[in-house]
Amino acid sequence: METRLTPEFAASADGRAAEAILRACVHCGFCTATCPTYQLLGDELDGPRGRIYQIKQVLEGATPTRSTQLHLDRCLTCRSCETTCPSGVRYGALVDIGRRVVEARVPRPLGERARRWLLREGLSSRLFAPALRVGRALRALAPASLHDKLAPPRDAGAWPQRSHARRVLMLAGCVQPAMAPNINAATARVLDALGVQVLQPPGAGCCGAIRQHLSDHDGARADMRRNIDAWWPSIAAGEVDAIVVNASGCGVQVKDYGRELADDPAYAERAARVAALARDPIELIDAQQLAAVVRRLPVREVAWHAPCTLQHGQRLGGRVEALLRAIGAQVSIPEESHLCCGSAGTYSVLQQALSKQLRERKLHHLAAGSPQRVLSANVGCIQHLQGGTPMPVQHWLEYVDEALRS
Ligand code: SF4
Ligand code: SF4
Repeated sequence: METRLTPEFAASADGRAAEAILRACVHCGFCTATCPTYQLLGDELDGPRGRIYQIKQVLEGATPTRSTQLHLDRCLTCRSCETTCPSGVRYGALVDIGRRVVEARVPRPLGERARRWLLREGLSSRLFAPALRVGRALRALAPASLHDKLAPPRDAGAWPQRSHARRVLMLAGCVQPAMAPNINAATARVLDALGVQVLQPPGAGCCGAIRQHLSDHDGARADMRRNIDAWWPSIAAGEVDAIVVNASGCGVQVKDYGRELADDPAYAERAARVAALARDPIELIDAQQLAAVVRRLPVREVAWHAPCTLQHGQRLGGRVEALLRAIGAQVSIPEESHLCCGSAGTYSVLQQALSKQLRERKLHHLAAGSPQRVLSANVGCIQHLQGGTPMPVQHWLEYVDEALRS
């Protein structure tokens, strides 16, 4: 696609990055067919090609409006369009730039600003865990829209105490330890059973995705630098050979640290090294080795929900399903498995109507195989789906952990 950026954008790093992405787009529209918001709303402006065109217009000098902002807000950043695109257009990076540019030019109403500030500061801060405890205690009084987010957590169980020659770092995350503490403990136990020790040095926190998705680029970069500082002593000492990230939404972010901090001379090299070490657990676990130590599956029939950040963001589709089958599970894959469940970080709070429609559609397809449980790989999807069904929804590592302990 031909571009004529204004001198202001042509001279900026964001503008140049956006231009390279825009030029790869041939405007074929294949991506619209796999875009969840286009499927729900049927409006070209709520599909990837339309959003790309709106961002291009702004970078070429058009004045963005509240309507431009709304169409970008409605994007789930699921990156299904990237998987479909035959030209390799990096839509996710482009929409990040587009959102930043529009955010700086289109003021939001006060209520919206306050809601976004609360999400940004609340979810990624150390106050989240105590605030969640208070919220859970007062769940009966909370608005219905928050009930599923305030459900009591599963017990985390014991953290493994053995040492192993092979060690990895693990990102604990920001909301996950408080919302679903069993996921990190289960990950540590499964890796321990396979001879891998998990280290969690103090000081790391949110991966930066929450701030990034709410257009706080500087705050997101500060989160990234803080995590690099926390992890670097173990990496520099050669103590670890990977950084395991068991929430696929955080994993896709950590794998992008190198690109995000490439222009920061103090951090660029370390950020690239951290990104290269980041692994989803499925990249570390050998299915045959695991099958040899699994005792008895807790249930056999499970449905698999592939988070967008795993299948589109990290391009690891098909791997977890194969591992689950290797240990004896009967795994059903829902229709439209490429489509987002509507969780998408803070989307389920900021775009509740669309998010709920996507959740209902996803749960309908997941239930079709009459599974006993739904398994997934991202805490956001798990909490969101669980809010719409009585069927247990859990991380696949929690299921494997149960199988090892049976
Ligand atoms: S499929 Fe790719 S090249 Fe075609 S319109 Fe979508 S982003 Fe552009
Ligand atoms: S990221 Fe997802 S919601 Fe956004 S345009 Fe692409 S397919 Fe549509």
